[in-house]
Amino acid sequence: MGPPGAGKGTQAGRIAAERGLAHIATGDMLRAAVRDGTPLGLEAKAVMARGDLVSDDLIIAMFRERLGADDTSAGVLLDGFPRTEAQAGALDDMLLGLDRSIAAVVVFDIDEETVVRRLSGRRMCRANDHVYHVESNPPAVEGVCDIDGSELYQRDDDQPDVIRTRFRKQWIEAAAPVIEYYRGRGLVSNLDAAQSREQVSAELDELLDGLGARA
Ligand code: ADP
Ligand code: ADP
Repeated sequence: MGPPGAGKGTQAGRIAAERGLAHIATGDMLRAAVRDGTPLGLEAKAVMARGDLVSDDLIIAMFRERLGADDTSAGVLLDGFPRTEAQAGALDDMLLGLDRSIAAVVVFDIDEETVVRRLSGRRMCRANDHVYHVESNPPAVEGVCDIDGSELYQRDDDQPDVIRTRFRKQWIEAAAPVIEYYRGRGLVSNLDAAQSREQVSAELDELLDGLGARA
């Protein structure tokens, strides 16, 4: 968990690949739905563009279907879900039904000004949401994804005013009770996400290695 721009997607993509986990990123799934023009995408598009949360009912239904796919049996890394108390409750019910549990909740701590700077330079690829930064992590060829060759673009919601809305409404307001809920269950570890990619990677790897059999 963490505010927009904390580096969740960057780290989750790497860790899922290294550890053979399914990476479930609800933001990536919603952008794919918008791209494909599905009913969910049509409903979510304007909500996402203004920095609000998509309704719990839609997100939970989308997530439930994804969690049922075959690639989740070896373990799942959740990125951007759950973001509200209703989603956390629904996740608990789903896990109970599957006889599975949450091994850890990692909270990425970072301040608002740093995320505004980071997201103003973020670029994503059209095909698979691979993440770049114009200064700190540019692609080899400007505007082209190193991994799949698709076009890089700037997200509608990566504008300073929408970034600030997302930070305040989605992170400070909606996520706080979710973190407290997990903290009460002893699941939360905080990480200083304002550090370099290398430092964040090293801390996160150590934390995950320490989970041992639970993960
Ligand atoms: P970031 O990684 O920059 O925080 P995401 O790509 O995770 O952003 O999400 C983009 C947008 O998709 C959010 O601003 C929100 O509108 C919507 N969204 C993603 N996940 C959820 C969720 N779990 N609940 C509600 N809305 C969501
Ligand atoms: P999130 O999924 O939390 O919204 P991203 O992983 O998309 O965040 O990262 C947001 C932006 O910051 C991207 O442009 C990414 O390249 C860049 N970034 C990620 N981690 C770091 C870091 N540790 N230091 C500097 N920039 C970073």
